[in-house]
Amino acid sequence: AFNFSAGPATLPEPVLRQAQAEMLEFGNAGASIVELSHRGPEFIAVAQQTEADLRKLLSIPDDYAVIFTSGGATTIQALLPLNFAEAGQAADYVVTGHWGKTALKQAKPYVAANVAANGEAGGYRSIPARGEWHLSPDAAYVHITANETIHGVEFRDIPETGKVPLVGDFSSSIASEPLDIRKFGAIYAGAQKNLGPVGISVLIVDRELLERAGQPRADIFDYRSQLKAESMLNTPPSWNWYMLGLTVKWMLDEGGVAEFAARNARKAAVLYDVIDKSGGFYRNEVEAAVRSRMNVPFFLFDEALDKPFLKEAAAAGLISLKGHRALGGMRASIYNAMPEAGVQALADFMKDFQARNG
Ligand code: PLP
Repeated sequence: AFNFSAGPATLPEPVLRQAQAEMLEFGNAGASIVELSHRGPEFIAVAQQTEADLRKLLSIPDDYAVIFTSGGATTIQALLPLNFAEAGQAADYVVTGHWGKTALKQAKPYVAANVAANGEAGGYRSIPARGEWHLSPDAAYVHITANETIHGVEFRDIPETGKVPLVGDFSSSIASEPLDIRKFGAIYAGAQKNLGPVGISVLIVDRELLERAGQPRADIFDYRSQLKAESMLNTPPSWNWYMLGLTVKWMLDEGGVAEFAARNARKAAVLYDVIDKSGGFYRNEVEAAVRSRMNVPFFLFDEALDKPFLKEAAAAGLISLKGHRALGGMRASIYNAMPEAGVQALADFMKDFQARNG
């Protein structure tokens, strides 16, 4: 089946096959990678290769550190202010959907969180223009959600924030197109969309930002300590790290982020085209200029058709299309691992369903 789940999301078939083949014994180690010590030579090699490949894939400059974490993107959202802001200091949040709101909520106990711009009144169908943002002059950082996974709203230009570092949540769009990381103080992502398995996340951070004192915190919540310990201050999620490594390697083998950018643009265009040409049978309400290339939420003109749509789609091998409960309707998540054939199959199904029910 083609799996349109928003996350955990579909993984490339070659990655799953390699993981299957290596499940019982990793190389000649006499045990599975999931059974071996994270301090042993086999896992250390996996971890180092993964970082090297990720650096290559995303063109990460040397003056940016890469930290692998557990606890998901949400934990990173809570640790950002503890690591990069002083107690009571302002931090600016640009809220363009559900996940921006979550980031704000996680930060509130630790900083004077300021909502610099908010798309909620407009139902998160657009991104407030940069000129309308109310930034604090002394903010520790400005936080944006590069791609809102639920609302299907994506920044297509990186906003300027002057001397204040920009922090971007790229959970659902990392590695989907080339990105100039130097425009950010930090970017982060849970892995379970474009980087592979759930259970591990990645923080890419300017080493200068890491110099900040931040606020009192336990060692385990301290990104400097994590970096010093090579992301192994405690037992890391080694299986997930290994899977992430396989996924990153697969993306490099396929041609890297430029190739995925081209594929993703084509995939998104196919779906939005079916929606826009359906004469109102399907609709996506997001302003065209900021429509997500990764998550395409859409509604049928009659809610009574939702159930038959999902049932018939599943029977045709098109699964996990049910929209997030906050929005209802449908959502097709079309990350890097979703082949163009999968998107074409969905587009064909949508047209056929309309012909039979329109
Ligand atoms: N940010 C974005 C954009 C997301 O899509 C998600 C999860 O779907 C999260 C944050 C939360 O990630 P996690 O579940 O890894 O904490």
